[in-house]
Amino acid sequence: MSIDEAKINPVPWRKCEDLNRYAIATNVPVTLDGKTVIADRVVKTACPHNCYDTCGLLVYVKDEKVIKIEGDPDHPITQGTLCLKAMANVQKINSPDRVKYPMLRVGERGEGKFKRISWEEAMDYMVSKIRTIIDTYGSEAIMEYGYSGNREYMAKAVSARLWNLLGATKLVGSFCVLSGISGSQCSVGSQNTMVPDIWADNAEVIMMVGLNPTATHPHVFPYLYRAMERGAKLIVVDPCVTGVASKAHIHLRPRPGTDGAMALGMIRWIIKNDLHDKEYIRNHTVGFEGLKELVEPWTPEYTEEITTIPKEQIIEAARLYATHKSHMSCGCGQQRYSNGHQVQRALASLAAVCGHIGKEYGTYEFVNNLGFPGFEGFMQTANVAVPKGARIKKTRMVNISTVATAMLNADPPIKGIISWRGGLISQQPYVDYTLEAVKQLDMFVVIEQFMTDDTDWADLVLPGCHFLEQYGLHTSYWHHYNQTLVPVCQPYYEAVPDLEIFEELGRRLGFEEYFPRTRIGLDYIRMLVGMNTDVDAATSPRGPALVDEKWSPSIPYKDGKFNTPSGKFEFYSSVMEERGKQFPGDYYPLPHFVEPEESVRATPELAAKYPLCIVSQHPSYRCHSQFYNLPWIQEIEGPAKIHINAKDAEARGIKDGDKVRIFNDRGELKNILAAVSIIVKPGVVELNSGMWVKLGGSVNVLTSLSQGGPRDTLKEKGIMTEYNALYDGNTTGYFNTLVQVEKMQEVTER
Ligand code: SF4
Repeated sequence: MSIDEAKINPVPWRKCEDLNRYAIATNVPVTLDGKTVIADRVVKTACPHNCYDTCGLLVYVKDEKVIKIEGDPDHPITQGTLCLKAMANVQKINSPDRVKYPMLRVGERGEGKFKRISWEEAMDYMVSKIRTIIDTYGSEAIMEYGYSGNREYMAKAVSARLWNLLGATKLVGSFCVLSGISGSQCSVGSQNTMVPDIWADNAEVIMMVGLNPTATHPHVFPYLYRAMERGAKLIVVDPCVTGVASKAHIHLRPRPGTDGAMALGMIRWIIKNDLHDKEYIRNHTVGFEGLKELVEPWTPEYTEEITTIPKEQIIEAARLYATHKSHMSCGCGQQRYSNGHQVQRALASLAAVCGHIGKEYGTYEFVNNLGFPGFEGFMQTANVAVPKGARIKKTRMVNISTVATAMLNADPPIKGIISWRGGLISQQPYVDYTLEAVKQLDMFVVIEQFMTDDTDWADLVLPGCHFLEQYGLHTSYWHHYNQTLVPVCQPYYEAVPDLEIFEELGRRLGFEEYFPRTRIGLDYIRMLVGMNTDVDAATSPRGPALVDEKWSPSIPYKDGKFNTPSGKFEFYSSVMEERGKQFPGDYYPLPHFVEPEESVRATPELAAKYPLCIVSQHPSYRCHSQFYNLPWIQEIEGPAKIHINAKDAEARGIKDGDKVRIFNDRGELKNILAAVSIIVKPGVVELNSGMWVKLGGSVNVLTSLSQGGPRDTLKEKGIMTEYNALYDGNTTGYFNTLVQVEKMQEVTER
């Protein structure tokens, strides 16, 4: 089928390719609603949602519209199964509510009133605004905001190319995982995960910490069940009763933010009972004596007092973990507290004390570095982000976990932001504070697929592409396969691939030579994958391509060597010690425990007003704030619900199904449905993350600005001239949040 460019490409300056080149089959019959239709083509691609699994997809296209999505049965890990999120992309890409054209604000910010303009006018607007801001405040007054809305990395490297050429402020860090990575990196060096077949077939005990795979990692279940059918025991550490916790032999439910204390208590008991692996400790670790001293106060009684886990359970779990062939897999929940880095170090130390690292049956794992390109080796982000021959200015950096603080305090100020693949307003903590930061901008451009919280506050909204309409390079932070995303269909309406928006903006800002019109997404992907890889295999649309053992070993740390300064596992981290001399923060070299910044023990006066710790699980049917607006998802998920323990509910006269108000000094949520539930323990409430502010259920109206990670970038006002994501990394301390809950009826009667 030849393409009719005028019909399918309403944006004159953008490229238009014949996408039939990516078809793996053509004229394929598909049954939809009981009728057979013939899809023009089937294309293989991958799911780039922020999720461990990075599933292989087969997408059916007819008349340049997506009509069906199914799992790729040839994907070695995900094997043809998908979650509802991936399948709901049929409704998402075809939604009549998509942003169809560039839209310029005509009302006040926040009113959500816009008029349609052309892409030419939109480009002129951005170029003129950026030039004015740079003339007035300098190039560092411009910044992008973006995160994992589409977690592929190619377009991000291209946008970085533009910001580097322009001399803009750089956005660095993460607000979800880097505190754990910094703690883990200081302990084991490189972060790698084990090929799951190995632990599934050999581990006797599997310990999952802060991981809710029902929502974020469903393809781990076949491996877990395989292990359990063999007789392996499962220990789950999570304050909430999750799907996987309900399958556990031991479910440890720490008071939120005390997982590190739990690990120290387990380590002490293991050492006191002579169950530690002395040979492993002697040959492969440093700092054991310091650790032994550190854990001395953590008796089972004291550990119970701090964590609220019954001491018998702590002992049972410690015995089981230490005396069997054990594998530990850590999620992200445990490190979303101000002490997140030390929690991660304590967990890694528990594995090292028992010698359960790099074994034929299991290891300690947190994330696979390949999921975070640029960390090392495999993906060469600089090949794209730093164009050869260009003069690149060293500019300041803003940490994404403290972005609103930086926006409110930067000097020279941040005046222009282009936001894409991220919800600045809905995903950052403390919504009112973020809005104050947004209000002082001179230019807020949002590239989006739907009218979200961010677009309501934008000056210009650009129609962004769905991931199925664009190229991408995607790696998993769990499995070892690298995937190339190809556009399966032409962009709908006037949507433009993110890559091409930044290229065209770059050309119009005077950097034509760095954004040649002949280049397509695959060319950038080849630049990223670099010289050390079989480029054709890695970038093949028929992928996925297994990444070489060099970058992603099947059994990480197998030789007992770690790329830490000592070459050993570091209970005592020399990196922490050194960086602590340079930067503010908790760089204590041993994995000591400190209370989360906002908690019943750290802030008892605040807790007297707001006695409940609120935590948020990722929902199974959404990826952060995506999908919330889709009818399929709303039908299943229903309105926002807060889980509250029966004791706490009774004390407040709240019954299941009542409407409640949740509040603290930062804000309030009204008319949230109470789910009186055993999924949380007394003193804890749970409200799913990612709901939209304007639809009434965003937990970030309440969440604290505090951050996890060793480096206190709040003290630096979020602005840095030097930053090492591996060692200084941050996470927003979303769960360091205390609230009160009351029945709505009582509010209205006052
Ligand atoms: S969201 Fe995760 S589990 Fe669902 S299809 Fe995408 S990668 Fe797979």
